[in-house]
Amino acid sequence: SYANNLLQKQTEELRMAKLALEERAEQLAMASQYKSEFLANMSHELRTPLNSIINLAQILAESEEGEDQGKGGDDSPNFGTIIYKSGQDLLGIINDILDLSKVEAGHMEIVREPVGLREMADSLEMHFAHIARQKNIRFEVRIEEGLPGTIVSDAQRVKQIMRNLLSNAFKFTHHGQVKLEIRKPSGDDGLPGEWIVFAVTDTGIGIPKSKQEAVFEAFRQADGSISRRYGGTGLGLSISKNLAQLLGGHIRLQSQEGAGSTFSLYLPIT
Ligand code: ADP
Repeated sequence: SYANNLLQKQTEELRMAKLALEERAEQLAMASQYKSEFLANMSHELRTPLNSIINLAQILAESEEGEDQGKGGDDSPNFGTIIYKSGQDLLGIINDILDLSKVEAGHMEIVREPVGLREMADSLEMHFAHIARQKNIRFEVRIEEGLPGTIVSDAQRVKQIMRNLLSNAFKFTHHGQVKLEIRKPSGDDGLPGEWIVFAVTDTGIGIPKSKQEAVFEAFRQADGSISRRYGGTGLGLSISKNLAQLLGGHIRLQSQEGAGSTFSLYLPIT
């Protein structure tokens, strides 16, 4: 019958459309795969020579230092040190770009292991003690009593997020203090289940309400003129937000312009 023919024709059209869509999806998946492979290869190609530059610069810096000591001259950084630091900065940017493309492509691997809270706090405290002293900013690290000793998460990734948050806190604070608190969520956090919070509070420049969402987007900085003054790629918070989600958690931001900011990483305990 006519109705039957029409139905058959439409079924066939739908089948063709589905095939075309499947083919397109396959092409896109391949393109995404190529992109990830390209980024991984490129970053390897960039990192290998860069590592040679960094290693040689370090040797250069040390030998220049030895010569300077003999002369008892000024303490301005020597060429080796400048090359070494610039190399480290560049390596940091390359690693950020690679990390962001990895999480976006779903290729970031997450390890589940016991993560010691005390160990984490100590390692972060050690890592930032020097910059705190240098900038004359008080650095306080506190673990609330009664917390479990460990949570199940990925120690490397938690550390990466926390280093991002803490280095921002020190970067955008000029006096006062930076505080790292590991605690239980407070009553008004309204979260079901068992969570732990890593909160970084600073007395720095703060972020205006209108910019608080944008700072988590890749390549975005709160203020063009300020970020040019401070440097940075604008990738750190975007990577951190993605990593937090991969770990089953999230990041909350509370901030007041001119008064300071609190970035809180929420992680499930198991
Ligand atoms: P970057 O620090 O490389 O610019 P991020 O993604 O880490 O990139 O941060 C994005 C932007 O968010 C920063 O450029 C800055 O404008 C703002 N920001 C982040 N942390 C703070 C902070 N603790 N205080 C004030 N502004 C901040």
